[in-house]
This record gives sequence, C-alpha cells and structure tokens, in this order.
Amino acid sequence: MRGPSEGRAERNPGIVVVGGGLVGVVTAMYLARRFGPVTILEKRSDPRRGGRGQGRSLTVMLSARGWRVLSDLGLEQTVREICVPLHGRCAHLPDGSSHVTPYSRDGQPIWSVERERLHHMLLDAAEATPGIRVRFEQRVRSVDLDEPAVLVEDGAGTQRLTCRRVLGCDGAHSTARAALAARTAPAEVRNLELAYQEIDVPGGWLDSRTMHYWPTGDALFAAFPMPSGEYSGSLFMRREGPAPSYATADGGQDLYEVFADRFPEPTAAVPDIAEQLATKSVSTLTVVRCDRWVWRDTFALLGDACHAMAPFMGHGMNCGFEDARTLVDCLDATEDWTAALAAYEKSRIEDAHAISHLSYQHYHIMANPPQDETAHDRGVLRKRLVDLFPDRFVPLYEQCAFTEESYASVLRNDQRLDRLVESLLSRHGTELVTASDSRLRACLPLDPNTVTLEDSGCS
Ligand SMILES: Cc1cc2nc3c(=O)[nH]c(=O)nc-3n(C[C@H](O)[C@H](O)[C@H](O)COP(=O)(O)OP(=O)(O)OC[C@H]3O[C@@H](n4cnc5c(N)ncnc54)[C@H](O)[C@@H]3O)c2cc1C
Repeated sequence: MRGPSEGRAERNPGIVVVGGGLVGVVTAMYLARRFGPVTILEKRSDPRRGGRGQGRSLTVMLSARGWRVLSDLGLEQTVREICVPLHGRCAHLPDGSSHVTPYSRDGQPIWSVERERLHHMLLDAAEATPGIRVRFEQRVRSVDLDEPAVLVEDGAGTQRLTCRRVLGCDGAHSTARAALAARTAPAEVRNLELAYQEIDVPGGWLDSRTMHYWPTGDALFAAFPMPSGEYSGSLFMRREGPAPSYATADGGQDLYEVFADRFPEPTAAVPDIAEQLATKSVSTLTVVRCDRWVWRDTFALLGDACHAMAPFMGHGMNCGFEDARTLVDCLDATEDWTAALAAYEKSRIEDAHAISHLSYQHYHIMANPPQDETAHDRGVLRKRLVDLFPDRFVPLYEQCAFTEESYASVLRNDQRLDRLVESLLSRHGTELVTASDSRLRACLPLDPNTVTLEDSGCS
C-alpha cells in the first residue's frame, strides 16, 4: 500500500493565514481586499458540512468593536439578522429575588449571536471574497518565520508551502505562536481554575431581553437567549479543589446533585439536565499572555493565539476582530511591513493585557451576588459617583462594550476611579457614602464636568 507522500513543496505568492476560526476569516477578508491572494489553512473539516459541530451551542456577545469590523467588511446587516439584542444581565439570587443591571445607561443593547452560525456566515463571506481560498483539513505543523513558510499536513502527507507572510490565527494552543516564542520569549499559557459545560436550556420561562445568571459565590450558571427562543447555557465551576468542583463531582449523579442544590430554578426548567451534565464535555478555559506578537516583516499573531482570555466580559472575539482592524490600519499608514507590524504589536499588547485582566476580574463580579459588591462602602460610593457625574465616570462595562476606547485606557480610568474613591473615603470618612448629593459634589476637588481624574489630586 502506498504511504502518504512526504516532502512536497509549493510556492504561494500571497499571504497564508493559519487557522480559519472567527479571527482568521475576518483577517483574511481585510487583507485580501488590499494585498491580493490569501490562503486560509484550517486543520478541521468544513464546519458547514455535517450539522451541528459537537453539539456546541455557545453564544458570543458582539460589542461596538466587533460591529465596527463587521461594518467595514459589509456584513453588519447580515449578521444583525441572526442576533438577539440584550439590554442587561439579570441576576437570579439565592434568596429567590432577581436584579437587572442594564448594560448601558441610555438603553443601548449588546448583541448575542450563536458562535457557530456567525462562523458559517463569515466562512461564506470569505469564500465569496475575490482572492481568498479556504483549505480545510490542513494542519500546520510548523512555521518558518524567516523564509517564510509553513509545513502543512493533510490526508496526502506533508507539504512545505512558502509564501510572502504568515498570520497566526490558530487559537489558544497556537502552533504559529510556538515558532515566534522559540525565537523571542516564551508565552505564558495556563488553564484557569475554572471549567465549563454548555447546557441547552428550553425557552418560555425567562425574559428574552436580558441574559440570565445565577451567582452562588462558588459556581455560576448563565443562560443567553437565542433567536429560536431557547437559551444557550453555561455552567462554570472550579476544575479541581474542594466541592463544588468538577473533580469532586464525577460527571454523573454527583454533578447533578451539585447543580440541583446550587441552581434549583434551572434544574426545574431543564428536564434533561441530569443527562446533559453527565454527557456534555467539560471544557477548560485557557489564558494566553505573550509579549511578542510579530516577527520582522513576515509574521504576526492575532486573536486567541496571542491573547486567549477568560470569557466573562465577552471580549475575546471582539478584541481579536479589533486586532485585525488595527493591523490593516497600520498597513494602510505605511507600505513598510516591518514598521507596520511593529506598530501593530505596540498598539495592541497593552490593550490585550488590560481586557484579559478585566475579563478575569469580571468573573468575581458575576459569580458573587450583586449586593455583596455594593454592600461595601467603596462599591456604594463608586456607584454614586458614576450616577452623579455621568459624563465624567462612564461605567467600565459600558466603556468596553459601547466605545472603541483602548482597553488599556479603560482599565486606567477604572483604576483612577478606585483611587479617587479611596482618597475621598480617607479624607472624609465613611459618612460620605450616605451624604447628600450636594455634599458629595462639594467634596470633589474641582468641577467634575471639566476636569480629569488626575486633576482631582488623587492620581
Ligand atoms: C464560554 C465562552 C464564551 C465566550 N464568549 C465570548 C463573547 O461573548 N464575546 C467575545 O467576543 N468572545 C467570547 N469568547 C471568546 C471567543 O470565542 C474567542 O476569543 C474567539 O473564538 C477566538 O477566535 P480565534 O479565531 O482567535 O480562535 P479560535 O476560535 O480558537 O480559532 C482558531 C482556529 O485555528 C484552527 N487551528 C488551530 N491550530 C491549527 C493548526 N495547527 N493548523 C491549522 N489550523 C489550526 C482551529 O481549528 C480553529 O478553527 C468566549 C469564549 C468562551 C470559551
């Protein structure tokens, strides 16, 4: 029997994108319009063939950054048709009460979309874009940064494909990143202490204008409306350690008992919850942090390959889309690829670190019942400042989701607000927390509508 052929070689005159996930496809569409042929190499088979992929029902939130990119690519209307607008998050608290936090102060929604449907739509659009070729079942084994070239494995063996540039969009466990790390600095790749399961939740018992979550302090269940009227649920729990954790529950009856104890309302609403908990795969959450994203004029990383993050702010994909836009902005500003890639790296790294930090931090906000947060003086004072000076203090979530302000600057604003609150409490004591609005206004050093936080003397 003939074995697979080895050592074939091919010259590709254009750009190779490693990975045909959400970010790889968007990156290819931006680049093909400007720089000609782009080949996407995807290790999996075409997800549009053969029904639902591995029973996954995950939904992702599209924020202003994501919409900007879809609009650039002429896809905004098409995608909007498969989205559900969400106006806030509804916490279902252990005492049976519920509490809605609007996503924005002016009623703007964010948009929820099934990741799989969005992916299919983007693949259709990429294939309809002149110059783009999507090749499935092509696993990239290694990347040569200098030539540049990729070693690709398919059913027929391995092949060395030389090209002009390589863009690594191959997700959290990126092969492309490994080539860069070997030449520069190692990337930090770690699994969070949390794991999750996707749970199908029937419709008809929850308000479909918000997402819903059940915080218990040590586990979190969330449900996102889908256009079908059903919900896409996710159970987040520690992977290891003391109960409740996936390690202490063995995927069968015990896990059901944990769930039923923590989440009685969803337990009653999902008739096959025991079966789903026993059979649905448990996924880890990987976080990636790396300080080098590009190599000379030949190579760049984008998306989860360089900044996989915790999902709790809903920004991994949005941030990856913004990478692609920033990259083409840098390339539009200069024809020198070395300078453009360096500018791209410089502009994105701090932002990626910032949103990754905020995303993990947000888990603790969501996993703990909201009153815990505001029970503290700091939390209450913070909220009062935000309510009293809406132009000066924009809530963090709103800045991330409804503006394109750099994530690093959003984080700095948030840290300044923390320092301002600290400073006010130490100067005026905790009585300020319940003081009248006029007293609170008087305690801010300068006119809040015209000054920055640094001017307040608290930076
Ligand atoms: C529970 C959860 C909820 C989330 N919610 C949100 C949200 O609300 N909003 C948001 O913005 N983000 C969200 N995210 C994050 C978002 O899903 C990711 O950031 C996004 O999918 C990353 O896209 P990517 O293309 O960079 O990577 P991936 O989606 O991982 O795609 C990488 C692709 O590369 C391919 N590949 C890998 N290795 C190779 C190789 N060697 N050769 C060829 N191909 C290869 C893979 O098969 C894959 O198709 C969420 C994530 C999770 C887990």
